[in-house]
Formats: sequence, structure tokens, C-alpha cells
Amino acid sequence: MNTTPIKSASSINFFLLQVVRYEDITPHMRRVTLNGNNTTNQELFTPGMHIKVFIPQAHQEQPVFPRMEKGRPVMPEPDEAPAVRTYTIRHYDATTGELSIDFVLHGDEGPASAWASRVEAGKYLGIAARTVKVFADTDWYLLAGDQTALPAISAILESLPASARGFAFVEIPDASEEQPLTYAAQIPLKWLHRNGAAAGTSDLLRQAVEAISIPSENRYIWIAAESTKTKEIRDYLKQEHYLQNNELYAIAYWKLGMNEDAYHNARHQES
Ligand SMILES: Cc1cc2nc3c(=O)[nH]c(=O)nc-3n(C[C@H](O)[C@H](O)[C@H](O)COP(=O)(O)OP(=O)(O)OC[C@H]3O[C@@H](n4cnc5c(N)ncnc54)[C@H](O)[C@@H]3O)c2cc1C
Repeated sequence: MNTTPIKSASSINFFLLQVVRYEDITPHMRRVTLNGNNTTNQELFTPGMHIKVFIPQAHQEQPVFPRMEKGRPVMPEPDEAPAVRTYTIRHYDATTGELSIDFVLHGDEGPASAWASRVEAGKYLGIAARTVKVFADTDWYLLAGDQTALPAISAILESLPASARGFAFVEIPDASEEQPLTYAAQIPLKWLHRNGAAAGTSDLLRQAVEAISIPSENRYIWIAAESTKTKEIRDYLKQEHYLQNNELYAIAYWKLGMNEDAYHNARHQES
């Protein structure tokens, strides 16, 4: 495949990939499989880790990557700048170099969802990856998230040993969005159906989390969903279960009514 070589910086690694194929796992979840010429045996890629995707503008075939200055990415001018969004590596095959990303198709308002809904073999997508550890090793796990977190929750479940126990909850629109998953861990996955409620508006995840018994030690809780819903669950867990920071990962994956750029800017201003 004719793709440009990896542009490497001290902490961020950019890859230019091309779509190999895609399939609809469920009506609103599209798996896009990509490859590039630097992706075989790539230690940076682990299923479950998050990456930045760089989506070319409509007039471009390929995205223009940021340039690195003093270790920091500097975006191209607005007429060239790609849309940058955050996604999860769902599968990675080190031998072939293929990696898959599962996109929730939530409409054309967002550039990532719009790109995925019109994807074709041969289309270009940029990604940037850096090594991050996504979860801790312990005995008992609670994994809870909405459909955007399903790729990460699936990858975590598949990576845990048969001795791991706990609960997993995934909020989805309805039964048609359930996916068959195979894993060894003794962690039953319960699908929570919104049944008509809009994404980011339901309390199903919080109610499910509040209904279970959580051990007081050797535990790890991983939460990812819409921003307000994630904060509500995080606050409940901290107040009622006295979780330390190393026992809890609670990350807003998106914010209702805001695109990812606006949401990130708002968070920077807050902090
Ligand atoms: C670490 C991390 C990993 C993630 N991994 C994945 C992944 O593997 N797969 C995945 O699909 N998403 C994933 N997400 C979520 C994804 O980044 C956001 O949904 C993102 O906003 C999508 O970009 P967009 O261009 O489609 O929409 P944007 O331009 O960001 O937003 C446009 C509008 O759509 C709304 N919106 C955004 N996402 C959704 C949604 N899911 N449902 C309904 N409305 C929405 C926004 O509120 C906004 O009003 C991840 C997020 C993070 C932080």
C-alpha cells in the first residue's frame, strides 16, 4: 500500500492509513479496518488504547498532519487543518499491520461520524498514537460506558484473565445494537437499552452502578460515557465508596450539544 512513512516526534507518532474494508457490526456501529506501511509489529498499538484520528477536509484526499514544534503539535492553517477526534483501537493484527476502529454512527453533524458513514476502501485517515495504560491489574472490575466506550470495554474484557470478576454495563439504543463478545473473565456484560431516549440523556448506567455491591479493596472501576453522565457516576462512586484515584478511571468521551473541539476548549478554560 502506498502511504507516506511515519512522522515521528518524541511523544506523538503520526500514521497515514488507508481503509482496507468496513462492516456494520450493528445498525449504528461501523467497524473500519485500516492499514499503512508502518503498522506491522507496531508496539504503540494495543486494542483498547485511544488514538487521535485526523480527518481530511472535503477538498483533500489525505489529511495534513500537525507539525511538531518543541515537542508540541502545531495545527495547519484552518483551510488545511483536519478535524481531530478521539477513538479506540478495537483490534490490531501485528502481522498484517491492520487495525480496526469501531465508529458509532450518530449522524452527519460530527466530521468523524460523517466520515465513517461514507467510508470506502482506499480512503485516507491519519492517526496519532502514544502509549498509555488504560486500566490497572486487580481482582474485581466494574466497567461501565455508553456505546462510544464499547470498543474499549470489549478490548479490556478480552484482555482480562479468567480469574477476573466483576460487572460490565453498556448502554446502547436498543437490542439491535448488542454485539456478541467472547472472553474468559467472569464478568457478565449487561446491555442497558435506552429504548427511544436520546444518547447522553439516560440514567441507566448510574442506576446500574448504584444497584451493585462494590468491594472495599482490590477493585478497579472504569467509566466512560457522555460528560454529565460520567461526572454523576464518578461523584457517586467517590462519595459512597471512597475510591482513590488509582482505583477509578472516569473519563467523559463526549459532551451532549458540543463538538469535541468546543468541549476540549471549554475544559481547558475551566482548568
Ligand atoms: C478516549 C476516547 C475514546 C473514544 N473512543 C471511541 C470509539 O472507539 N468509538 C466511538 O464511536 N467514539 C469514541 N469516542 C467518542 C468520540 O470521540 C466522540 O463521540 C466524538 O465527539 C465523535 O466525533 P464526531 O466528529 O462524530 O462528533 P463531534 O463533531 O465531536 O460532535 C458533533 C455533535 O454530535 C454529538 N455527539 C458526539 N458523539 C455522539 C454520540 N456518540 N452520540 C450522539 N451524539 C454525539 C455532540 O454532542 C455534538 O453535538 C471516544 C472518546 C474518547 C475521549
